[in-house]
Amino acid sequence: MSLSILAARWVLPVTSDSIDHGAIVIDGSHIRETGRVDQLRAAYPDASFRDLGEVALLPGLINVHTHLELSGLRGRVEEPRFQPWIVQLITLKAELFTPADLLDSARLGCVEAIRSGITTVADTADAIGTLEALLESGLRGIVYQECFGPAADQAEAAIATWREKFEAHRERLAKVPVEAASRLRVGISPHAPYSVSDRLYRLATSLALENDLDMALHAAESIAEQLLLHDGSGDFGDSLRRRAIEFTPPRSSTVAYLHQLGVLEAAPLLIHGVTIGESDLPLLTRTGTRLAHCPKSNAKFGHGVADLYEWQSRGLTVGLGTDSVVSNNSLDLLDEARFCTLLHRAHRADSTWPEAAEILRLMTIDGARTLRLDDQVGSLEPGKRADLIAIDLSGPHTRPVYDPVTAIIFSASARDVVMTMVDGRILYDGKNILTIDEDRLHRHI
Ligand SMILES: [Zn+2]
Repeated sequence: MSLSILAARWVLPVTSDSIDHGAIVIDGSHIRETGRVDQLRAAYPDASFRDLGEVALLPGLINVHTHLELSGLRGRVEEPRFQPWIVQLITLKAELFTPADLLDSARLGCVEAIRSGITTVADTADAIGTLEALLESGLRGIVYQECFGPAADQAEAAIATWREKFEAHRERLAKVPVEAASRLRVGISPHAPYSVSDRLYRLATSLALENDLDMALHAAESIAEQLLLHDGSGDFGDSLRRRAIEFTPPRSSTVAYLHQLGVLEAAPLLIHGVTIGESDLPLLTRTGTRLAHCPKSNAKFGHGVADLYEWQSRGLTVGLGTDSVVSNNSLDLLDEARFCTLLHRAHRADSTWPEAAEILRLMTIDGARTLRLDDQVGSLEPGKRADLIAIDLSGPHTRPVYDPVTAIIFSASARDVVMTMVDGRILYDGKNILTIDEDRLHRHI
């Protein structure tokens, strides 16, 4: 296997100190070594060499929650109230999108992710096109295939539908080279407490535990959800009653409800968690439940501010997610990181937390831990996959650079990403996406 050296003004391994005038030795799809450029050139005289200049090289960003298939609906549903927003979104998706449209929509999401320096995507998907789009794109990812059904008697049918989609994914992955298949996993996602019956939660959890499937779920996202679980009131309670769907409120928090149903035994990825309270935290810690923090989506809906500080203080595993572009409206994880930093500083009236370096970890190594991929990605370390990105810090909006980490968190944006690499393969070279035909895509979306 041929070796190559990529050099940069700054190399940020994330799990060790930043390296000025650093370089990375890449051996095919893996990282061989990081260090100072002069030392590595001397140690590997036969390796090909490329100096990327005034950029920071860092691990590819990890988006722990999105819905790529919704990318084509950006800006289409600006209804500010949460429950009516969901209804409009479901209706529009069904009316406007054929399966081919959903595939293109997911492709658009992949293109935006790659251009934003995201190399791993945890996606919750309803249609089956997202896996295909991810395969084409070269991204690493997990597709959490969704199941829905608020009425208890829909549970078996919902699981049967889920199984069909899961089998289709398995067959598809069996037909691609092992290397490509190894970048993708399929999991299960019972959608949310207002769209999933207790019976469906139980069936989905058994399926996850018996088949060692990763599970993700939207939970503790809104006050409306809290009201439904407390006494059946609020927008979601009204909506279920209008459809004559029986729901017995557990009169507890979402986390206590999920625990009581046995769902937390699967140590799921819990998406949002805005209304998680003090009494929920021991349950999350004990079960190893992981969290996807999506501050911009939560803010746009006025859901509130998730207690990232407390989660991290308790040692919970947390990553950063954008959610879909229908509620964000962007997959720019650098923008999400800056918003996250400023939001929590303002909310807690404390300028000392979070530090920029903590938020860089949140969208790299912590994201990898959240998705149980930290043995492969999330930092620049020997033996890990060569998933890395270059961020140009030479622009007038980022220079001068006294500290590349604060420059990235407080000044840079997705537009400054000039290279995205997954498994040693360049997916974006600063001008073009090399895997998906953007011109064709933009004629459709
Ligand atoms: Zn979501």
